[in-house]
Amino acid sequence: MTDGTTPRLRSSLEGVPSYKPGRAASSQAGAPAYKISSNENPYPPLPSVLEVVRAEAESFNRYPDMFATGLMAAIAARFDVPESHIATGTGSVGVLQQVVQATAADGDEVIYAWRSFEAYPIIVQISGATSVKVPLTSGERHDLDAMLAAISDKTRLILLCSPNNPTGTAIRRDELERFLDAVPRDILVVIDEAYREFVRDPDVPDALDVYRDRPNVAVLRTFSKAYGLAGLRVGFAVAHDPVAAALRKTAVPFGVSSVAQRAATASLQAEDELLERVEALVKERSRVYDALRDQGWTLPASEANFVWLRLGDRTTEFAAACEQAGVVVRPFDGEGARVTIGETPANDIFLQVAAGFA
Ligand SMILES: *Cc1c(COP(=O)(O)O)cnc(C)c1O
Repeated sequence: MTDGTTPRLRSSLEGVPSYKPGRAASSQAGAPAYKISSNENPYPPLPSVLEVVRAEAESFNRYPDMFATGLMAAIAARFDVPESHIATGTGSVGVLQQVVQATAADGDEVIYAWRSFEAYPIIVQISGATSVKVPLTSGERHDLDAMLAAISDKTRLILLCSPNNPTGTAIRRDELERFLDAVPRDILVVIDEAYREFVRDPDVPDALDVYRDRPNVAVLRTFSKAYGLAGLRVGFAVAHDPVAAALRKTAVPFGVSSVAQRAATASLQAEDELLERVEALVKERSRVYDALRDQGWTLPASEANFVWLRLGDRTTEFAAACEQAGVVVRPFDGEGARVTIGETPANDIFLQVAAGFA
């Protein structure tokens, strides 16, 4: 649309939903305020990682290593994949943008479950492609049969979010294998495993095992959640050639800063320590889940670092009550609230509020 007085912008930008970041915490009436709205890691940076970041900060007048050589080697060694199968990006959201840019444009279709990660519709719409949203099952899980049925000649990409943000459910091995067997080989399937480190269900596969003999499967991982580097923006994809090469091509040049590269590499070196923290959060997740069940809630078991309460039209009221009590959660108006497993006192405040809504 243009009347000749303003620059012409691509029509696909019209109506793009804006990403709603989790609200920041604010103190009210002296009560401690906690942000449990963005699935962040509540632990502060590890001293060993902080030290590397401080040292690297001395040289930020220089561009970063465009090929993230050290980080690529560390990822390859840790996950036992060839370096040629890795592409890094500015968070896995950045990598996702690279994926969409490499696969889909005007007239193409991208299938994903809904509700799922809110970045998906934004990135797809900006590309000019069309989102095909397949509703979750009544159990808040991916409906893989319906997703298969949604495949058309125009499908170029399928996004699977496992565990799913915001419902916490994860796709099991058998259903995933069956699904992948049925998807045409010329359609890329991306498994977004932003919360992989929090998975404890043994029937949920590690997508890095699944991708190995499937050239049309790519895996997204991030350093933002379990590794606690959300503010540094670094994530990666693992995929076969030529997909991985295409994801490196579509990356923003020098996108991942040297601080982020070094911090991610140091985090892989300190992985044992970080995974102990993840284990503590998983225990806390069980405690919160059990308490909610005892209060009378029905909710899906979560394999991630958050829980999902389907509150329907009470969602806004619930979020306001949480805020009043000192915790900020993430409401999806009319649907439900996603609540991150945070510091124990934050989780306790959330549970107190939840008790009043059960
Ligand atoms: C948090 C999250 C990401 C990670 O985002 P980054 O850009 O790596 O910080 C990716 N996918 C899902 C589903 C998420 O919830």
